[in-house]
Amino acid sequence: MIHYTYCPVCDHTEFKVSLKAKDHTVSGEEFSILQCQNCNFLFTQDVPDQQEIGRYYESENYVSHTDTKKNLFFRLYAQVRNITLQQKLQLINRLSAPTKDLLDVGSGTGYFPAYMQKAGWKTKALEPSSTAREVCLRQHNIQAQDPQAIYAMSPESVSVITLWHVMEHVHDLNGYFSRFFSILKPGGFLVIAVPNPESYDAKSFGAEWAAWDVPRHLYHFTPATMKRLAEKHGFSMIQTSPMWFDALYVSMLSKEIQNRSKWSGLLNGLASNLYALTNKGQTSSLIYIIQKPKAK
Ligand SMILES: [Zn+2]
Repeated sequence: MIHYTYCPVCDHTEFKVSLKAKDHTVSGEEFSILQCQNCNFLFTQDVPDQQEIGRYYESENYVSHTDTKKNLFFRLYAQVRNITLQQKLQLINRLSAPTKDLLDVGSGTGYFPAYMQKAGWKTKALEPSSTAREVCLRQHNIQAQDPQAIYAMSPESVSVITLWHVMEHVHDLNGYFSRFFSILKPGGFLVIAVPNPESYDAKSFGAEWAAWDVPRHLYHFTPATMKRLAEKHGFSMIQTSPMWFDALYVSMLSKEIQNRSKWSGLLNGLASNLYALTNKGQTSSLIYIIQKPKAK
């Protein structure tokens, strides 16, 4: 178990309990989400360490690593995935990346790296689940590596690093950020998508918001704390982009947590997106575009 005595972002030692959330997917255990009194960073206290956390991912409902087409929900999920793959490609193609070398961290069963490869990007993939790595190889012919490989990668060897709903799961938060800085070429980009606790759906579902997802989500980034963490490691925050589908998906899961029909969550999702339209694009999840300074 990891008991934080100082803030992972700013090293401050005073926190307050922001809320208590339950693990609704696997264990039913309750965890406190703390807020740093200096920088407002939100993180889950007393989380399982890297050796212990494996069993908290052992659930049939953890869709990110599985590939089931069994019902309407999963068929819609697959449709949305195809649309979002295209949007991610467009977003990355618009960046002025030095070369077309990409590293995807936490690639799951490999849809994203496969899509990028077809679009002409030279792509490497890292994924902790050996089951997901096997599916990735079988379905997409991409040999994903264990994330430990990141510590052995050459300096300035990639132009874009992507983490789609992954950064909130990584134990070695500062270690990863400093590795990202070293393996990125000058002017390269870090693209990080994570849930947004300042979204309307987070506020309206409170402790029952599905994207707290404790203890698997170790951190709960906001635009301000992500910027602070990026700058701490020498990066610049370039842009924040909305993710419109996540409000629908997360609201449906949140309704299930409340033992209500998941389809009624679609309305909450729409309300969340309407809120985001008038509130600086504060969607349920956000994509942060972060850049390493160009060589002088
Ligand atoms: Zn702090």
